[in-house]
Amino acid sequence: MTIKSFIPPKRTLMGPGPSDVSERVLQALARPTIGHLDPSFVGMMDEMKSLLQYAFQTGNDLTFPVSAPGSAGMETCFVNLVEPGDKVIVCQNGVFGGRMKENVERCGGVPIMVEDAWGEVVDPNKLEAALKANPDAKVVAFVHAETSTGVQSDAKTLTELAHQHDCLVIVDAVTSLGGTPIKVDEWQIDAIYSGTQKCLSAPPGLSPVSFSARAADVIKSRKSKIQSWFLDLSLVMGYWGGGAKRAYHHTAPINNLYGLHEALVILQEEGLENAWARHAFYHQALRAGLEAMGIRFLVKEAHRLPQLNAVTVPDGVDEAAVRQTLLQDYGLEIGAGLGALAGKVWRIGLMGHACNENNVLYCLEALDKVLGKMNAPIKAGTAVVAAQEVLAKQAV
Ligand SMILES: *Cc1c(COP(=O)(O)O)cnc(C)c1O
Repeated sequence: MTIKSFIPPKRTLMGPGPSDVSERVLQALARPTIGHLDPSFVGMMDEMKSLLQYAFQTGNDLTFPVSAPGSAGMETCFVNLVEPGDKVIVCQNGVFGGRMKENVERCGGVPIMVEDAWGEVVDPNKLEAALKANPDAKVVAFVHAETSTGVQSDAKTLTELAHQHDCLVIVDAVTSLGGTPIKVDEWQIDAIYSGTQKCLSAPPGLSPVSFSARAADVIKSRKSKIQSWFLDLSLVMGYWGGGAKRAYHHTAPINNLYGLHEALVILQEEGLENAWARHAFYHQALRAGLEAMGIRFLVKEAHRLPQLNAVTVPDGVDEAAVRQTLLQDYGLEIGAGLGALAGKVWRIGLMGHACNENNVLYCLEALDKVLGKMNAPIKAGTAVVAAQEVLAKQAV
């Protein structure tokens, strides 16, 4: 049999990422591939830098997209800033903090763990205690928006504490960028990485990063060679930072960069503040519907991420069967729980382009029908009305 072209089914992506990619971004991806050193492409790269500086709210010169997904942005921060023997305080309150620990160990660093329960924020008091107990620590690393639990930690306060103890900070903003406020310069974050497939709604495969001048100086004065050739910033910058004289480092993922460029143009058109407000607003509508049904949130109200709603599975419900039916009958993807939360929660994303009125109502209606059919202990028929009441209050 001859294998034919792959045509993906139509889906609505309301999981932990990827999120729905808009028609405009899809069209940008389909534009003709040109050379990665073509002057016209280089002009696009300069724009990309300004667009990312806007998204991160920074003037950092060292701001560009790493040619690989969010995990590679994480690794870029660690391999460049952590040398063998360096002490790194890693705050963990979910899956991604655990990966930071792995990164520190693989760089030959010594991780000092500050642990909080999954579903809780990183506790600044615990961080402060760890900083006092480890005056020789060099870096503090934490996840701003923990996608595994739907929690947002206080990046500003954690960064201030780290600086009071003369540490650099590495911040995971994969799920926060474009969805909730991040102010790299105002908060004086030293190194930050994100992803494209969450609130920016571009396809996966790129990781925007930004480094402060202070972080760049630390990298320049390293004693040991960076163990990763591909992610070594001093080499990558020959391409991304070279101004008019860009030198070949690796072949940039050209069409994927067109997609990110378009997604960032869309963000600029909407305005960052408006994008943050939109995420907050539709989260309130979704929340009203879920709560009317009797579904509870995992996270305390003050710490919830609008773009990632972790809710507890009603008693006696087979959570995997629900997700399967949503996908089969409604083409709707929501996320399962990870690690300690597997089987216990669903993660409903309202990210970027997917964060809109239609999706809120569609998801509530689908959940209502599917759970109702299973005789789950919910108040059927109430969710959509409750959400509509919130939606009627304000047009975004
Ligand atoms: C998705 C995610 C990552 C990893 O990004 P990939 O693009 O999947 O490599 C890292 N951190 C957080 C908080 C994430 O949500």
